Amino acid sequence: MSGKSKSRSDGKAGAGGLTHGKMPCPNCGAPLVIELAALFAGHSIDCGACGARLTINREESSSALEGLRKAQGIVDRIHGAKGG
Ligand SMILES: [Zn+2]
Repeated sequence: MSGKSKSRSDGKAGAGGLTHGKMPCPNCGAPLVIELAALFAGHSIDCGACGARLTINREESSSALEGLRKAQGIVDRIHGAKGG
């Protein structure tokens, strides 16, 4: 008899993963949720686990940010195509 049903609840979101990114804290390794908008703006991020302050060097990660900017540009296009 097997009436047990496993219910998997993976928080997998197909679309909409462009606004937030995950990055392990370099100090304690805790997973940090980072807003891409904040990265573009050059904001610093505080780790909630150890309190370390992380700052993003846009110049150093320009290549990485460039890819993100392209992705965001696509989203912008979709939004812009909505209303004339
Ligand atoms: Zn930390």
